[in-house]
Amino acid sequence: LPQASPALRPCTPGLMNCHQVQRALRALTIPLERLHIMKGHMMQAMRRGLGRYTHSQATVKMLPTYICATPDGTEKGDFLVVELCQSQVRTLLVTLFGDGNLSPQMMYKTFDMPEDIMRGEGEALFDFIAQCVSQFLADSSSSLEHLPMGFVFPFSCRQTQLNKAELISWSKGFSCRDVEGKDVVQLLQSAINKRELSHVEVVALMNDTVGTMMTCSTEGRPCEVALVAGEQWAPRVPGWWVLGGLSRCSPPLLPADKGSNCCFMAEAHLVETTEETSGRMCINTEWGRFGDDGILNDILTPYDECVDEESSSPGEKRFEKMVGSLYLGEITRHVLIALAAEKALFAGSSVDVLKEKGVLKTHQVLEIINVEEGIAVTKSTLEALGLEPNERDCSRVQQICRAVVSRAATLYATGLAAVLSYMCQTRDMDQLLVNVGVDGELYQGHTRFEEILQSVIKLLAPECVATLLPSTDGSGRGAAMVTAVAVRLEAQRREVAELLAPLRLNHDDLVQVQALMRQEMELGLGQETHASASVRMLPTYVCHTPDGTEQGEFLALDLGGTNFRVLVVHVREEGIHMASEIYVIPTAIMQGTGEALFDHIIDCIVDFQKKQDLMTHTLPLGFTFSFPCQQVGLDKALLLTWTKGFSASGCVGEDVVQLLREAAERKHHAGLKVVALVNDTVGTMMSCGYEDPKCEIGLIVGTGTNACYMEEMRNVGTVEGDEGRMCINMEWGAFGDNGCLDHIFTSFDRVVDEQTINPGKQRFEKLISGMYLGEIVRHILLAMADKELLFHGNPSPKLYTKDIFKTKFLSTIELNGLALRQIRQILQDLELNASFEDSVLMREVCHTVSMRAAQLCAAGLAAVVEKMRENRGLDQLSVTVGVDGTLYKLHPNFSHCLQRTLRDLAPNCTVTFMPSEDGSGKGAALVAAVACRITGPGQ
Ligand code: ADP
Ligand code: MG
Repeated sequence: LPQASPALRPCTPGLMNCHQVQRALRALTIPLERLHIMKGHMMQAMRRGLGRYTHSQATVKMLPTYICATPDGTEKGDFLVVELCQSQVRTLLVTLFGDGNLSPQMMYKTFDMPEDIMRGEGEALFDFIAQCVSQFLADSSSSLEHLPMGFVFPFSCRQTQLNKAELISWSKGFSCRDVEGKDVVQLLQSAINKRELSHVEVVALMNDTVGTMMTCSTEGRPCEVALVAGEQWAPRVPGWWVLGGLSRCSPPLLPADKGSNCCFMAEAHLVETTEETSGRMCINTEWGRFGDDGILNDILTPYDECVDEESSSPGEKRFEKMVGSLYLGEITRHVLIALAAEKALFAGSSVDVLKEKGVLKTHQVLEIINVEEGIAVTKSTLEALGLEPNERDCSRVQQICRAVVSRAATLYATGLAAVLSYMCQTRDMDQLLVNVGVDGELYQGHTRFEEILQSVIKLLAPECVATLLPSTDGSGRGAAMVTAVAVRLEAQRREVAELLAPLRLNHDDLVQVQALMRQEMELGLGQETHASASVRMLPTYVCHTPDGTEQGEFLALDLGGTNFRVLVVHVREEGIHMASEIYVIPTAIMQGTGEALFDHIIDCIVDFQKKQDLMTHTLPLGFTFSFPCQQVGLDKALLLTWTKGFSASGCVGEDVVQLLREAAERKHHAGLKVVALVNDTVGTMMSCGYEDPKCEIGLIVGTGTNACYMEEMRNVGTVEGDEGRMCINMEWGAFGDNGCLDHIFTSFDRVVDEQTINPGKQRFEKLISGMYLGEIVRHILLAMADKELLFHGNPSPKLYTKDIFKTKFLSTIELNGLALRQIRQILQDLELNASFEDSVLMREVCHTVSMRAAQLCAAGLAAVVEKMRENRGLDQLSVTVGVDGTLYKLHPNFSHCLQRTLRDLAPNCTVTFMPSEDGSGKGAALVAAVACRITGPGQ
């Protein structure tokens, strides 16, 4: 028990022997295990409050505020706030200097609101507010420049944007007609415009708890949690007050209309009640109703039950009634009544005065406990009520007040611990370091409250280190901060949008790319035109896709991907089985002589055959060779150019199959029968075609990008014959090398291109494939840092290193949940000092780049499928694309975006995508197998 309420002081011996008092104190003390359970329940209630389907029944409402960032100290300018309080309108002008928000200048004016307005026409209410604004601005002689305004509107609203909120229902004495169900921001803006104040723009509407959080952000570390414990104090006396800098003249303070609450920055994708998925959003927990489902029943005391019965909402707001400053006096009053009835207090004198609701105020309870030797205060407080306490009564009452307040503090702390643990968990962190803004009369000036908060958090959420910061200047300044942040974000958003606009392709752009691709395809196929086409449309001499009857045992080579591999492939009725071995090709060999390269390949084959015990077999061999080749036959292919870091001499213009055969002869390897040379796109199509006969397209999106498809022989001007079909290796990576895509290249694309080993070449590929996307992103990030949109204008020196930003980072960053430790790892590896907002923006950049890649890929494919459909004279084509490549397979959005765009661009084609499993290896064997099937075994 002593652990449970750390600040509950040990009883003095005189008190110990009063068992009634002891019992009361015990009832008000919650054991630590029970607090642990309660914290778990609170977390569960929070999750329910955020869940799409559980939200409506949740006790903890978790209201989204649409506030998606905290101040970073660069906020600057004049901001107006208008706040609707109980029966007043507060206006406030805050000037920020972009100096870390250290010393904002503030001017207040408060107006009393006539009663009839609170219950009159809605229009009259908003006209009145506009009139207050107008008068305030006239008096403060502010300029007529654009003035952003925040609107503090503490009523239950259905908010859908920062500046859009429908009033659900009035409360707190308000009942203006024709407002419920309407957007109150719009109503206020119209009223303001009527007064010719159209330079005043309502940019943010907020409830009243978020201000505290917004005022506590310090330069280094943002404040991401706020706790309001009881009423906040705010200047509410009608008249003028100027607060500025250090020489602050404080206005008289009166309690504002604030309850007990907590808000924090939640991961936006967990807030299922909004569309927002990126970044964070401030959530107003509205935790006062926690326990309304009975979950707190076992800790409710008889005193709590009395308070509840006497309240205007019996059975509701159970948590609020244990912690709220409206209720602490009441709880104490009922303890005193009960103890007096048991003769443990005020023996002999009448306590009837205590029967009146509200006679003991929470601030009196706080006064009683706040004074070290507060017996005198206790005595005078009780006497003022008309009681006749003796010395012992006074110390017992003091003890009881402490217990009531300690319990409230412990419950606040438990709720806060739940919030902190939830943040730590959902941000995937081992330890959460966070600033917590605290306000409210329970906190202000009560070290005991702070001690309890600190020690309970340590016990219940040991993984969180919370620094408590007192909020200054109340909610008005916070509202100005919300407004200022909204304005900063909006300006930033505009600049970002401008910078990214050239990368964003609309439907018409894509239709045009599709048409250009189609045009280049025709050129590439034409006998006369093909030499000048950027899309080379190379014949492959593969004229049949598998029909599933293929059988046999084959060798396969895969050269040109990330690895060089040798495989043995068994094609049987039951399916395909393979064994393979990866071999390294040293750079010296890649860039040495052709003879050395092919000798090395033969060595690897021999090694493999020995390992697989295949030396005595002569197996047909399929060779996946992923470089552009002018194919003359299935087993005759002239290398057009090396790519991907290969440059072995004496190969370009030669027949690659012949080079392999000559090497075999040099090495006296007689048992080698090269049947076919295939591109990796063709291999991919063939391996998927074995499973699905409708697979007549192959697509690669890995290091590079390319596609192949089955074209009608009559359209292939570069090969004799009109019968049947042939697979065409498009080599579409070079699309645009003739300048036809220049209009879609951005400055970033041009820089990336210039820094490659083949500038001006493979221009389409450089917009799409894994080798380049990271580079494009890197250049955009540098441009953004240059405009001070990112990293406070200071990117790490590392970010200037070519290829340091890997394309796989895009995959990680674009996944939901930016707080994932992998993302922190990336930022750390790049030595980037990125704020959370920076990482949200980085995500947008990555998304823009990968989406464009997927859309362009879709435009290319749309040209292909539409051509196939027309070739075959079909209204509707149903076709399968075999796909390979790590970018396609591992990126979280690429494939989805590709398919969606393709449906949009080629609505008459039903295209199924089939990821290939080891297309290069299996595919080469299948090409060999099909060749053997067509020509007959033994050939
Ligand atoms: P290749 O195209 O050389 O046969 P892959 O299909 O495996 O090989 O593609 C490798 C490329 O995929 C790498 O260059 C890299 O850019 C990209 N990549 C690797 N991992 C990922 C990932 N997780 N997400 C997106 N792209 C990736
Ligand atoms: Mg590959």
